[in-house]
Amino acid sequence: MPIHEKSLIRPENLITNDDLVIDGVDVSGHWSTFIKTRVISDYNEGLQDEIASLPGGEYIHRCFQCGSCTNTCSVNAMNPDFNPRHWIYLIRLGMEEELLRDKDIIWQCISCNKCTSICPRDVIPEGVMKATSHWLELKGHTPKSNSTIFDEVFTEQILETGKIEESRTIRQFFARTKQSLFQNWLIEMVKRMIWRLPVGMLMSLGLANFIRPRTKNWSGSRDAMNDYLKSQNEKHRKSLKLDDLDITNIIKQAQADLPSGEPSSK
Ligand code: SF4
Ligand code: SF4
Repeated sequence: MPIHEKSLIRPENLITNDDLVIDGVDVSGHWSTFIKTRVISDYNEGLQDEIASLPGGEYIHRCFQCGSCTNTCSVNAMNPDFNPRHWIYLIRLGMEEELLRDKDIIWQCISCNKCTSICPRDVIPEGVMKATSHWLELKGHTPKSNSTIFDEVFTEQILETGKIEESRTIRQFFARTKQSLFQNWLIEMVKRMIWRLPVGMLMSLGLANFIRPRTKNWSGSRDAMNDYLKSQNEKHRKSLKLDDLDITNIIKQAQADLPSGEPSSK
């Protein structure tokens, strides 16, 4: 299905003539808008399968491009460039380079799930946005997002103690993302907690910072979770061929490092 939305056509592909008369009819300005033809030869034919192999992307193949997700999207209402329907279209066609042009805004999905509620094909577009953000990070196209860093801090703490201690999670997250703890909203939240929470609960929250409470007999569950995470990580790396990529890069680097004139084996 071709794209007809003018906002999605890159400005460099639009041509207008400021002064053009055809058969006596003045078609200057936007009346003479043409779209340059393009030849795309760098399809990633496995792109849809790669996104579908990550959590949330499983049902991307169901999309029939009705556009309801974009019409209802909270972020699109603020920024028309945030367009889930368009990205799903690009992924399904394997247009990786085109998708990468928007790599710096795809992570901005706020998981409001309005798109998921309205989607007539149960694509779960919110999941597809998450899977795409994850894909961008795993492929090295974008740095690790704050959302991923939060997930890591959260998971590490669960694995270590079998519990979540909120203030420690927040402190570790802010430290790893190099943000100041002294943010107005955080100070306000702590003030309100001090005023409103029962003294006993405040004391146990404070003590938890020094005595790290642990779930009893946690090691069995931790081992099971570690095994699961490891198998998922291996599965994702395999489906995205990340280890093959590494080997290819190593070979390329080795060939580049050869002294000039030395033949390389092919
Ligand atoms: S609402 Fe669903 S079917 Fe429609 S474009 Fe979005 S993802 Fe595709
Ligand atoms: S979940 Fe993300 S993509 Fe879906 S409507 Fe909300 S912001 Fe938009």
